[in-house]
Amino acid sequence: MVPSDPVVESVMSETGRILVIDDEPGMREGCRRALSAVGYQVDVAADGEEGWRRLQEGGWDLALVDIRLPGLDGLQLLEHIQNLDPDLVCLVITGYATLETAIQATKRGAYDLLPKPFTSDELLLAVRQAMERRRLVLDMRRLREERERDLMLLAEERSRLRTVLDSLSDGVLVANREGRLALFNPAALHLLGLPEPPPIGTDVAGLLPDPRLAQLIAEGPQDAQGRPASVAREVSRNGLTLLASVAPVFDQRQERLGTVTLLRDITAAKALDELKSQFVSMTSHELRTPLAAVQTYIDTLLGGFAGELTDQQRGILERCSQRLTALVNLVDDLLDVSRLESGRVERQIVTLDVCEVMREVVALSQMEADARQVSLRIEAPPEGLTVEMDRDDLVRVLSNLVNNGIKYNRPGGMVTLRARDEGYYARLDVVDTGIGIPKEALPRLFGEFYRVKRPETASIPGTGLGLSIVRRTVEFYKGRVEVKSRLGEGSTFTVLLPRGQATFRL
Ligand code: ADP
Repeated sequence: MVPSDPVVESVMSETGRILVIDDEPGMREGCRRALSAVGYQVDVAADGEEGWRRLQEGGWDLALVDIRLPGLDGLQLLEHIQNLDPDLVCLVITGYATLETAIQATKRGAYDLLPKPFTSDELLLAVRQAMERRRLVLDMRRLREERERDLMLLAEERSRLRTVLDSLSDGVLVANREGRLALFNPAALHLLGLPEPPPIGTDVAGLLPDPRLAQLIAEGPQDAQGRPASVAREVSRNGLTLLASVAPVFDQRQERLGTVTLLRDITAAKALDELKSQFVSMTSHELRTPLAAVQTYIDTLLGGFAGELTDQQRGILERCSQRLTALVNLVDDLLDVSRLESGRVERQIVTLDVCEVMREVVALSQMEADARQVSLRIEAPPEGLTVEMDRDDLVRVLSNLVNNGIKYNRPGGMVTLRARDEGYYARLDVVDTGIGIPKEALPRLFGEFYRVKRPETASIPGTGLGLSIVRRTVEFYKGRVEVKSRLGEGSTFTVLLPRGQATFRL
């Protein structure tokens, strides 16, 4: 080996830690010089034992091992290294490079053989290639570790998801496109009363208490227009009432993968709701009778049947009467709401002449309209218009709308009732020239107990229940109610009712 070889004098650009293990001092030092000169960090060891000790310190990229060493020889050392760190690259220096030695060394993990004697060029070339190998090995190790880390993260993510699912008190049931079980949690088992976990892939239909729900899961839930949408359904099982919400699941290409069903035990909530309805209904009934009696007494007094009244007494009685009317209206509205809520409404579905019912409603509201100086008008098609529904329902809907049109109007104002045939629907408009409704109030208008809070409405009596009664009634007939309004100009309430009875299910 010639230490002054031109390659040795090249720029110091190489990096890496190398241990040279050779018992010949000249060879050891020659290698150290040649390799340090190009930038490597080089250490030396004079025999196998020392080499092994140094290698165990770790941090090496390459071991340059003489195959013939006193004590622990090169081949044994290679075996040790293989066990210690298979990623450490070993270059074997050998004086007699036979095929046999090459095979033996390679078997023990040596990367290459460097036969003696060699030049600095040959040494550097072999070391560079070995270092390249080392870099590849390290890259592979890094990728392997990253992959393992990713897998661990994935496993962690899965177990976290599992923990969340398991601790939910709502049941979760995931089914594939064919309605076969893909995932479930313990709450689902409990709510469905299944004694043990069914195998994944089981047909979900066999696990559910309700064939319609099973069908929803198997076919995918849809809205009325046939578009995929979440659908909720109440089902009963062993005295429990469950609310099952079935939602379709899609992949990135919007193809349906299956469904997720959420099962919630609403038994207690249902019982409470029932209790509330019973309470409202009972108290309303109990209140209605004495209120009617008081009203009769007041009317008797006002009629002068119990003697002449002074102006002051009459004034007081009239205020009592007004307050009582408001109270009776509230009780009536509460009764209507509780009847509609309970679903226990006796209906007689008949063919109704809409215009005739409109005339009846106008007659009922005429006194109130006169008192507020509001005129009432009907615009009806000459050929008439019919709907199939319960008479009281239609009277209730129109009365509520007409009374509002009168109440929220101004002296000299007008309320128009308009009927129109729109094919599938009968369209009934109640148009007023009243105070109008602010835009922000519109979305809440049909909710229970909602009243617009404005200075103009503060003195107008009301319960905030009328429009919710209208909505509930109209929805029963699969119709809808809409409102358009301009503040200060007036409002139009539109009721659309399917004309044929066949269009709704009782
Ligand atoms: P209420 O008993 O208060 O009239 P409703 O449910 O019938 O209850 O109406 C809710 C609220 O909607 C009313 O308080 C009123 O503020 C507003 N509203 C209803 N109809 C009209 C209308 N024709 N013009 C203006 N505001 C109206």
